[in-house]
Amino acid sequence: MTTAGAALARPPFMRRVLLPFEISPHAPEISGSVQHLHGQTMGTTWSVKLVLADMSRLSSLQIAIEQALDSVVMQMSTWLPDSNLSRFNAAPPGGWHSLPDDFFRVLDYGLQVSADSGGAFDVTSGALVELWGFGPTRSPDDARHEPPTTMEVANALGRCGWQRVTLDREQRCARQEGVRLDFSAIAKGFAVDRLSELLQHRGIDHHLVEIGGELRGCGCKPDGQPWWVTLESPNGAAHDADLIALHGLAVATSGDYRRYFELDGKRYSHSIDPRRGRPIDNEVAAVTVVHSDCMTADALSTALTVMGAEEGLQYAEHRGLAARFVLRTAAGFSEHCTPVFNAMLQ
Ligand code: AMP
Ligand code: MG
Repeated sequence: MTTAGAALARPPFMRRVLLPFEISPHAPEISGSVQHLHGQTMGTTWSVKLVLADMSRLSSLQIAIEQALDSVVMQMSTWLPDSNLSRFNAAPPGGWHSLPDDFFRVLDYGLQVSADSGGAFDVTSGALVELWGFGPTRSPDDARHEPPTTMEVANALGRCGWQRVTLDREQRCARQEGVRLDFSAIAKGFAVDRLSELLQHRGIDHHLVEIGGELRGCGCKPDGQPWWVTLESPNGAAHDADLIALHGLAVATSGDYRRYFELDGKRYSHSIDPRRGRPIDNEVAAVTVVHSDCMTADALSTALTVMGAEEGLQYAEHRGLAARFVLRTAAGFSEHCTPVFNAMLQ
């Protein structure tokens, strides 16, 4: 295999750290201490660590965070039949629908990534996601004896395609021609950004937000240290995992190990290649993207996972992205990083 990125060999048990290119001169709130709020959302967990001086604010912050998350779910969930997204999907094709702001923002950006990635990422993949058992009506854990037929795949493909959604940016309206939106590859990242913005808006500049493994960190801890987090790895090995300083940075990871089912020894990932109508069949185990915002990192980590190493590394390098590919090879995992990712490594 030829890849555009550099494969990194490193001695066993060597821990590497990633640092942001820019360190803000803004000093942390020395008088505060780190507080932890957490809960459940979007079928996963959320966690917010924040530096706070006045503890009496904690309960109102928990409520505000839960309200913000509930609002994202009410707008973008595929699982709630009365979410804005489910109603948009269920509406007869061809009509114009006025959309709430957050929904519009995510759809607008999702369509841009869909077009720019040539459909490797596609926010209109709902019918395929459903067909392969990763949507709300069927679980990948349900007993199955065979994958969908070629005819079923062709039918689902006929109900996908980002070109079949039209936006009216002035009226904040959208129209779909028989496709089903699925925001699962982007909504968690959006929600992380949303919480980070909420905290900043309330004057809480030093925080770390996490939803289901997607993260964004701002400012520092009271001891002046940045928010250090471990980069997710497909084999779960923590001893030599990379650490990243999330100081004005977000990170998202996609991979075939996160959700999948196995049939006759073959792994079917929840990462679907909408260009083929099937789960990815490349050597990618995981892709991590580091970016200033989490929605971008989330969408692009999915896009690069679907593209695979060769196409994905070229795409990422061309756009100056910080991305790390972990590939499954006969000899074990191998890692390929873009030059920007390598430049962040110490
Ligand atoms: P992520 O973990 O962010 O890569 O998101 C994976 C989820 O996004 C899947 O469970 C699907 O619901 C959806 N999905 C799968 N493949 C794609 C794709 N190529 N483009 C957009 N969404 C996808
Ligand atoms: Mg994603």
